[in-house]
Amino acid sequence: MGAETDNFPFIKARWFTPFGEGRRAVRLIVIHTMETPERDGIAEDIANDFATRPPDKKASAHLCIDNKKIIQSVKDNDVAFAAPGANSDGIHLELSGRAKQTGAEWADAYSTAVLENAANAAAQYCLKYEIPVKRLSNAELGDKKAKGIVGHVQVSEVFKLSTHTDPGQSFPWDRFLARVDVLRTERMKKLGLI
Ligand SMILES: [Zn+2]
Repeated sequence: MGAETDNFPFIKARWFTPFGEGRRAVRLIVIHTMETPERDGIAEDIANDFATRPPDKKASAHLCIDNKKIIQSVKDNDVAFAAPGANSDGIHLELSGRAKQTGAEWADAYSTAVLENAANAAAQYCLKYEIPVKRLSNAELGDKKAKGIVGHVQVSEVFKLSTHTDPGQSFPWDRFLARVDVLRTERMKKLGLI
């Protein structure tokens, strides 16, 4: 069993499925964009939105992440309403930003700060659930066995249960995964695991 994550500030989502007894088997970290403007405080605003969603707009995710904060909305062991097909075995990270962002927009100061916070969170989940720092192909996602990191768009393509295309074609996967890897190693050293 891997290391626990930090205790992130918690604003409980209205809609999720309690897992119940035992530890949920998590094999996926799923990256989303919130489709919101780049500004301070958006992670908390989205968490508050998840806390008050009406029954016809059920949605939630484990973490809401912006340039300054990481807010938890669904506990790790519970199942979020985030991406059908990858809910029961996924940890879902909502990043401030939009799927239509260009590479240059992902490289601006705001998105760089968001990506750093998201990489930090993803590194912690890679350790907790022994998930390799690796983006899965659609075939690997579909085989229901491989562990790794994917975008919501891949869940849409493989399971065909939603049409969302986040985090978008220009999401900087290589840069993001490189930071997850560095932060994972730093955390392992800090925890005395290596
Ligand atoms: Zn999404």
